[in-house]
Amino acid sequence: MLSGTHKYDIKFLGKFLRPSAFAEKISVALTKQPKTPQSKHGIAMLTILVFLLLTSFAHAQEIDLLLKNGHVVDPANNINAQLDVAIADGKIVKVGPDISSEKAKKIVDVAGMYVCPGLIDIHTHVFVGSNPDTFADGILSLSPDDFTFRSGVTTVVDAGTSGWRNFPVFKDQVIDKSKTRILAFLNIAGAGMSGKQAQENINDMDPAKATEAIRKYPDVIVGVKIGHYEGSQWTPFENALAAASRSNMPLFVECHLPQYSLEDQLKRMRPGDIITHSFEKVSERMSVIDEQGKVRSFVKEAQKKGILFDLGHGGAGFWFSEAMPALQQGLAPNSFGTDLHRFSMNAGMKDMLNVMSKYLSMGMTKEDIIIRATAGPARSIKRPDLGHLSEGAVADVAVLSLRDGNFGFVDAGGNKIEGNQKFEAELTIRAGKIVWDLNGISAVKFTK
Ligand SMILES: [Zn+2]
Repeated sequence: MLSGTHKYDIKFLGKFLRPSAFAEKISVALTKQPKTPQSKHGIAMLTILVFLLLTSFAHAQEIDLLLKNGHVVDPANNINAQLDVAIADGKIVKVGPDISSEKAKKIVDVAGMYVCPGLIDIHTHVFVGSNPDTFADGILSLSPDDFTFRSGVTTVVDAGTSGWRNFPVFKDQVIDKSKTRILAFLNIAGAGMSGKQAQENINDMDPAKATEAIRKYPDVIVGVKIGHYEGSQWTPFENALAAASRSNMPLFVECHLPQYSLEDQLKRMRPGDIITHSFEKVSERMSVIDEQGKVRSFVKEAQKKGILFDLGHGGAGFWFSEAMPALQQGLAPNSFGTDLHRFSMNAGMKDMLNVMSKYLSMGMTKEDIIIRATAGPARSIKRPDLGHLSEGAVADVAVLSLRDGNFGFVDAGGNKIEGNQKFEAELTIRAGKIVWDLNGISAVKFTK
């Protein structure tokens, strides 16, 4: 059974994400213009014209794909109801009740399933190549299309596997060749994750070069990463922060920084910057929970300041002993970054839906989980064009079902919790095209 209506945490979401808020702003701006009788008349005529144009367009619109009877969960638009979704030319053309199937080329009945914006995973390593020992251009990264669509993910952000030196190779070799939308946090280390030597080379952590690369690829690079430096100098962190500030983008802090204290890292970060591996329990970094089981006060301060907490599961980044008390005390992740790579995919992490299902078993509502997999990460990377099903938006859609059964969920320490529901990706749509169909719900039934 699908749940009834649920009130979204709009404060979490941020007003700027809601397209309706944009429309309100535009209409307010229009009404604030000084009005002469002529301009009033002009505005009225223009409004009528636009209205006529839109309605005639809607009538003439052919639908390539119509998803019927699903339960649409679109937090950015505050939609949580049984509605149909019409797609044409790779875009969402309408979300509403009982959309006529008369002009639809293909109809898929998704009754009993959740229809959500395509999921966004902001922590992955997908700069796959042939080098046997590295993440950058190596086999420790994964080929995105092999793993994304089967778990409802349509957008990934690569977390600094490349830097300004090898980003063009990444773009040419993987980004431009994949169906998954691939965005990137650019590593401040010039050669990205090309091994220890490259990651410790401060001379190559050049904010000017990083900023130049960001300017060259504004549609793909969404932030700057600092991560694997193990020394005690703050120059790498400061250079990464400088490149992020100059580009008006978030800094993504992946915490393999044993000489920097967690408190110092959080203090140096600005509102909107993202820390990952938020619930890890490793010797190289202090955890967010103190010895008394409480969220540390400086972590609470950072959350209040507007620092964003990405889950960043990976092989060692997610422990129930940290995540559960954190959730109970109001520290939920802002995004479910999986830290997808060769070592996490077959361990406790598995895929994004498995990570989301852990939170379901920990008591988070389905709706609050879906926000953190769609509109939340879109906000973190400042991409308001993604993570919603507004009319005119790119048709990236995840159709999910909740499977009942007995399931076990394992963290990075090998600890297990049990649950009786699990998310499953039934249908994934990328730019209007079906790219994953688990049970053939869009296929033609075979008859002898
Ligand atoms: Zn990572």
